[in-house]
Amino acid sequence: MFQRILVANRGEIALRVFRACRELGIETVGIFSEADRGAAYLELADEAYCVGPPKVCDSYLKIDRVISAAEIGNVQAIHPGYGFLAENAHFAEVCRSCNIEFIGPSHEAMALVGDKNAARQMARQADVPAVPGSDGLVSNETEALRIAHEIGFPVLIKAAAGGGGRGMRVALNDLALKSSLQQAQAEAGAAFGNSEIYLEKYIEHPRHVEVQILADLDGNVVHLWERDCTVQRRHQKLIEESPAPQLDGQTRAAMCEAAVRLVNAANYTNAGTVEFIVDRQGRFYFIELNARIQVEHPVTEMVTGIDLIKAQIRVAAGEPLPFGQEGIQSRGAAIECRINAEDPTKHFRPCPGTIQRLIVPGGFGVRFDSHVHAGYTVSPHYDSMIGKLIVHQPTRQEAIDCMQRALGELRVEGVRTTIPLLKEVLAHSAFNEGLVDTTFIERTWP
Ligand code: ADP
Repeated sequence: MFQRILVANRGEIALRVFRACRELGIETVGIFSEADRGAAYLELADEAYCVGPPKVCDSYLKIDRVISAAEIGNVQAIHPGYGFLAENAHFAEVCRSCNIEFIGPSHEAMALVGDKNAARQMARQADVPAVPGSDGLVSNETEALRIAHEIGFPVLIKAAAGGGGRGMRVALNDLALKSSLQQAQAEAGAAFGNSEIYLEKYIEHPRHVEVQILADLDGNVVHLWERDCTVQRRHQKLIEESPAPQLDGQTRAAMCEAAVRLVNAANYTNAGTVEFIVDRQGRFYFIELNARIQVEHPVTEMVTGIDLIKAQIRVAAGEPLPFGQEGIQSRGAAIECRINAEDPTKHFRPCPGTIQRLIVPGGFGVRFDSHVHAGYTVSPHYDSMIGKLIVHQPTRQEAIDCMQRALGELRVEGVRTTIPLLKEVLAHSAFNEGLVDTTFIERTWP
């Protein structure tokens, strides 16, 4: 097992990894930008090094500085968290060439699944249904029009290197497709340094359901059931839960088995998430494989009782998974609400500032994963998520009631947050019946 790990991240996920390491008896090294200097969560690392100025491209994304911190800190492994360098195959390769274990898949597997178009082709080969679309990349207008006519409008133009809900455009007809194509290529080139695009049928009113997997270095692959992340705004998840409501047992099992097949085909190891969209007829289609721990991993931890961060570390250290598929049960229902410092009444504009007062809920089945406290200043330089409120109860209805109660107790003063919107969503009849789709938020709160 590793003696020391560097956590190449900040905020709640850095703290989450520090905590898991402490329980495993592993020492931790944190990194911070000048904007995060002095943050209280860093006191829970054994040591921490500054990696540069506030801008992420000059600090958290600077590979040479992160590696220098790892060398000074004398660590054997790096946990990347999510975001920043977590899905950067080059970074994973650099770590290994410096004899530092990267806690995640091999850089080869990461590069393969990071190319969304290549991942689609692999899915087809593994007999996993992908959204109907182009067989490969689309380079010109004639080809795009031909494919769009084959699969039928509306179509979605997607960037092969896209991520974080960016790099997607819907086209309803020939004219829109023609005018969007070049724009999409230019945007993808500017945002991801890769202008390659492909086409998918745009599935109307879908649900987003994803499967958590774990794979060790001995070739054992298991799934940890699914999470429903349908409540989104502009492709950003707001609420996640497990099990997925309104998903019949047969579809659930087929989806989980498909995810395992895909992970096997990709020679993928460590934790990963296979994302699907489910259409109104209950058919599911693969959209991508995320090569990292996800923000919403706690809901899976609550229903399975498995600590995913510890599992990631153990697998990276070469330990075999301590359970087979039969050993992984899903019990009760868990829901997570992302608490963002954003103003829902002003188009979700980020609301940086100092938290004057904070009251954290507690009680049976309530978990709050967060690095903030009264007096903490939310920086304008980073993601606006300030915490995740997670509940676990025997039934979905009890989980909804518990979440409402916990959101009612949670007080964040000094910055505007998404709490009022989350309460409204939880009170909405469509959410309660499990009948929402990914456009629910935009349609209901335009
Ligand atoms: P990213 O990597 O940017 O997160 P994804 O491919 O995972 O992109 O898609 C993000 C979200 O976009 C999904 O959760 C879903 O809401 C929507 N989406 C993706 N593909 C389709 C599709 N073919 N039809 C309809 N919605 C889609």
